[in-house]
Amino acid sequence: MRKPFFLFVTLLFTSLFTATLSFAAQAQPQPVAPANRGNHPAAGNPTTPHFDGTIWWNYVKVLAADDMEGRETGSPGLRKAQEYVVEHLKRAGLEPVGSRTYYQPMQFESRQIVEKDSSLELVHQGEVEPLTLGDDAIFNTRVNLAPSLDAPLVFAGYGLAIPELNYNDLAGLDLRDKVVVIFPGAPAEIPGALASHYQSASERWKALRKAGVRGVIIIPNPAAMDIPWARISANRTHPSMALKGAEFDDTPGEDLAVTMNPERAQKLFDGSGHTLQELVDLVKDRKPLPRFELALSVRARTVVNKKTLESANVAAQLTGSDPKLKNEYVVLSAHLDHVGIGEPINGDRIYNGAMDNASGCAVLLDLIGSLKKSPQKFKRSLLFVFVTGEEKGLLGSRYFTTHPTVRPGSMIANINIDMFLPIVPLKVLTVYGLAESDLGDLARETAESMGVQVQADPEPQRNAFIRSDQYNFIRHGVPALAMGVGFQKGSPEQEIFKNWLTQRYHAPSDDLDQPVDLAAAGKYEEIVRAMMVREANDPGRPHWKANSFFRRYAPMASGSY
Ligand SMILES: [Zn+2]
Repeated sequence: MRKPFFLFVTLLFTSLFTATLSFAAQAQPQPVAPANRGNHPAAGNPTTPHFDGTIWWNYVKVLAADDMEGRETGSPGLRKAQEYVVEHLKRAGLEPVGSRTYYQPMQFESRQIVEKDSSLELVHQGEVEPLTLGDDAIFNTRVNLAPSLDAPLVFAGYGLAIPELNYNDLAGLDLRDKVVVIFPGAPAEIPGALASHYQSASERWKALRKAGVRGVIIIPNPAAMDIPWARISANRTHPSMALKGAEFDDTPGEDLAVTMNPERAQKLFDGSGHTLQELVDLVKDRKPLPRFELALSVRARTVVNKKTLESANVAAQLTGSDPKLKNEYVVLSAHLDHVGIGEPINGDRIYNGAMDNASGCAVLLDLIGSLKKSPQKFKRSLLFVFVTGEEKGLLGSRYFTTHPTVRPGSMIANINIDMFLPIVPLKVLTVYGLAESDLGDLARETAESMGVQVQADPEPQRNAFIRSDQYNFIRHGVPALAMGVGFQKGSPEQEIFKNWLTQRYHAPSDDLDQPVDLAAAGKYEEIVRAMMVREANDPGRPHWKANSFFRRYAPMASGSY
């Protein structure tokens, strides 16, 4: 999964390898109920599970091994992992998609802040207070920072404008040539998907730019930070990346982007008549925020080292059997990249990304093996995409959906797998986008038929819906969702997930030496497989719900072929 805005590093954490090996005793999946949209018998032998998690784990072990060096975008480690995947695709007899090669290359600009030549200061009535980079604040080089900027500060609440709800944090403020200070999040009454959408870098910036804003200082919500500041700060000079080409610039004209340490952010509010604590308390409860001018200006000087590098998506198809429907694709995606080699934590520099997201790619590899072996035929083609650049801002999927190697409009559904976290038994499946399209219904039916409950995102403030690759499919009109092993609020499992995020997420300890539940992984694979097979054979395409916000991206022709 992609980090929100800031960089994540880690705490020390060690554990014994305690992968649960209880899969043999697991209850067998129940038959899949027929879909509402079609009249197809359940695929395969409904009483025999296809997966027990062992083969899946073997793939994870390869992709998250130390010799893959954390699979950073553009690195030899990621290329090695891609070669392994391509070898698997070839051996399984899958075809490249739309060209002779399995690779879809693209160019990136890598950007690294040179802190010794950069500075950030607050100015109050001519008095200058330098900020310490790292302790007080960090620059966000995903944005193309201007070499220098001096601008007054304004506090703009959540910094959101949501026309559908007549909600506008910017209304009534003079923001021309100002830098706004904002919190991430949104008031509780704004529906999760909508709040997530308008918090995406491009949507938020569109509104801010229109108001004349020059830059953004964001203060993470201390109550919703996955990781403490010290770890966010430690890898702050690690290069960020952007896709080359103006069509991919989400923040044109944004001259300054800074993440402020919430523990040091009171100084922004000195002399404003408001305190940081007052605002943090409101944000914690997802309440509306006041908006007001601050008594300070910001002065920034930045030097950024820029380099060009190349990386690629890997894609392959299992061609369908129906003469007409084989030209349509059910897409299963997962990001193969992770964050590479970084600052050592407990002596370990390799950020292996076992759950994030060797685990998801391993599902694709395991599914390919299973589907290839099966005598089942699929009417539509199945498209498997291993994207790059996810950790750099969903860049590989952005490129793939902007320049698909298949006919535009031929991708009928996307299931994305990112860090599905089989770290507890799979009793509850969290479906991101559950209420948005027919795919949500399919996920519900499929999971429930296997004795698994389904729930929508229980933590919408973490913005998971826009933090992985499904979002780019959504923005190109393709009904999409992501799913993960879930927990009920207030359950002991919630604590396990919370600890996992705090201790292992984007840390070297997300490695092969951690407890995983193989049975949960196997059951998850079973659900994904059944959904793929059903979508491939259903006479109709899935559609966005009539009241879904995301329907606006669906082409008019959707459903007509
Ligand atoms: Zn991640």
